[in-house]
Amino acid sequence: MGSNRFISGIYNYCDYWCERCAYTRRCRNYQMDPGLKRRADGQPPPIERDAANAAFWADLAEAVRETELFGPADARDREAGLPDDLQPDSEWLAREEAHRAAVQQHPLVRMAFDYMKRVEAWQSTADPDLKAVARDLLEAAKSPVPNPAEEEAREIGDMIEIATWYHTLIPPKLSRALDGVFEKDGLDDDPPGVLAETRQHDANGSARVVLLAIERSIAAWTRLRTLVPAQGDAILDLLVPLDRMRGGIHLILPGAQHFPLAFLGEFSEPPTNA
Ligand code: SF4
Repeated sequence: MGSNRFISGIYNYCDYWCERCAYTRRCRNYQMDPGLKRRADGQPPPIERDAANAAFWADLAEAVRETELFGPADARDREAGLPDDLQPDSEWLAREEAHRAAVQQHPLVRMAFDYMKRVEAWQSTADPDLKAVARDLLEAAKSPVPNPAEEEAREIGDMIEIATWYHTLIPPKLSRALDGVFEKDGLDDDPPGVLAETRQHDANGSARVVLLAIERSIAAWTRLRTLVPAQGDAILDLLVPLDRMRGGIHLILPGAQHFPLAFLGEFSEPPTNA
């Protein structure tokens, strides 16, 4: 790869989980941000890390395919200093406020925030069961007879990491997707012009990232139900809203599922920097 190593805009529609990304070597954001790169210190070399991450997500995707649970598969102060002719007009402000409120009140967005709070509550209530499982696994790992305890312990950690990474990503990304839909619907241009197309494109891209986050969360929770049976019912209560959100997104943004995500290796056209 030469000077064209970077994939244009790959970071616009991704899950920001750089430690688990298979395209760190081709992401300008990652390569130019010392903070992001530092977080990878101590990890394997980039080529190996990207390959290992690709394999990790491929394995989890396989687990999703096998899952049958749900069937087949402060700005106001700054404004005060602006000259009058640069003040936003009150009509525009009222429209923006109504728009923002509509997004926040949308049932899917409310469900996403509710899910986020439920996951946070789960983290505290599940702690005793998780510690009990960890103790059992530690004991089993001491056994001279080969057993899968170490692998299971690692897997529990991975699944919790996945579910907890995505639970905070879903509400803002879903809000952005619906914001794009409302903005597009509020435009007066008929037939739809470039602005409407741009809004729709952004809504689809954000929604596709949410769908990915939901699918991966469902896979992680489903596996955790097996690994920590005592948490089966509690985890089911988290899976239900995830499935409902997924269905709602398919209805409102049917184009989202076809939006290519470059950080997954999906490209709308062959990248010229391959
Ligand atoms: S594309 Fe990958 S490396 Fe770049 S910001 Fe997104 S997750 Fe991080």
